[in-house]
Amino acid sequence: MANIVILGAGYGGMAAAVELEKSGLPFTLVNKHDYHYFTTLLHEPAGGRNEFEQYYVNLHDVLRRESSLVQKGMVKELRPKENKVVTEQGELSYDYLVVALGNAPEFFGIPGMKEHALLLRSLETAQQIHDHVERAFASYHQDQDESKLRILVGGAGLTGVELCGELAEWLPELAGQYGVPFSKIELINIEAAPTILPMLSDELREAAESALRKKGVKLLTGVAITKVNRDQVELKTGEVIDAKTIIWTGGVRANPLIAEAGLQTDPRGRAMVNEYLQSVDFSNVFVIGDSASFTGEDGRPLPPTGQAAAQMGDHAAQNLTHILQGRPLEPFRFVNMGTLASIGHEFGVGSVKGLNAVGVPASLMKEASKVKYLWSLGGLRMVSLKRGQLKRKGS
Ligand SMILES: Cc1cc2nc3c(=O)[nH]c(=O)nc-3n(C[C@H](O)[C@H](O)[C@H](O)COP(=O)(O)OP(=O)(O)OC[C@H]3O[C@@H](n4cnc5c(N)ncnc54)[C@H](O)[C@@H]3O)c2cc1C
Repeated sequence: MANIVILGAGYGGMAAAVELEKSGLPFTLVNKHDYHYFTTLLHEPAGGRNEFEQYYVNLHDVLRRESSLVQKGMVKELRPKENKVVTEQGELSYDYLVVALGNAPEFFGIPGMKEHALLLRSLETAQQIHDHVERAFASYHQDQDESKLRILVGGAGLTGVELCGELAEWLPELAGQYGVPFSKIELINIEAAPTILPMLSDELREAAESALRKKGVKLLTGVAITKVNRDQVELKTGEVIDAKTIIWTGGVRANPLIAEAGLQTDPRGRAMVNEYLQSVDFSNVFVIGDSASFTGEDGRPLPPTGQAAAQMGDHAAQNLTHILQGRPLEPFRFVNMGTLASIGHEFGVGSVKGLNAVGVPASLMKEASKVKYLWSLGGLRMVSLKRGQLKRKGS
């Protein structure tokens, strides 16, 4: 039996693992944690919506076959020439490897960003943002430092906009809880590009902008951050803003282990893959998700998204099955299901299968997509397990 190793249990790695389980193929999944978190929803608990336990699932609750091995630990090195990976626990050999190690933050060389900004990329970092904001509000009365009530989010792609939507609804609650002056709260979203949410149509973008402004978010587009100091951001306009909470959502590049392994990469460090999702250097290494540079139909690399990662994970696992059964490989085709951005609990914008939705309908579509995802991990059992936990914080 072939020895298959999957690295990373994000959207790509989980989809590959679930598909291999369905085909009855044994594998070892190596991941930093023994759970899979829902990255695309991290803005919700970070911004005070719901309990954190709703946003992850234990790997053993999804992968239940005896032949599906889960190894918790950090991957430290890929050695594709030797068909080995090095983990915290030691070396692991493989016949076939699926690399789904996700991304690393892209700071675009902005001095101080790495040192001083919070990031939203995992359950832990979501918790850090949540706790940091709450601490700033809770301690306001100690020194009346108004920068504690100013939150600055850099980047207005999906992550930045969705996070601002959540924070805009949570901050007034916090203000009430800690008795801080509501009028002094400032939530600022700064974007160097001329618009927010570049992947959406003008109409949807305008609806999103208007919803954010109505919720009190100050949008600064076409404004680059040039430097970050402790509790302070400098802008290209010369303006300097003091803020105790600075969050960076401005971009990602591939996990650095890819380039360190000597695989051919694109300028964002993503492994170049062929139409079957195999590394162009090693045909027994599949690379998927944010770690892969796959050329889409428009001739450009697919943008890093959860839906692309999950589709690639399915596909890589199916192609692996084909190899083991001696059947020809199938080329990967990305099917764009659309994009939905939530702006708080009850407002969203997006387009699904070509249909635009704004407001509550978009929020409902987003809720439906959460259920669909849980279903893909473990059918009704998984939906009941996680949706059964649905309760607002404090209730
Ligand atoms: C707040 C937010 C909102 C988003 N919204 C959307 C959205 O609405 N729609 C959409 O399509 N996309 C969205 N995205 C993007 C999407 O989450 C990513 O594109 C997607 O998670 C990529 O999947 P992946 O499997 O490649 O990597 P990931 O999901 O990041 O998984 C990588 C896994 O590898 C593990 N790992 C990393 N390094 C190591 C190591 N050295 N050793 C062991 N394990 C390791 C990580 O812990 C993680 O479990 C959003 C992202 C964020 C942060």
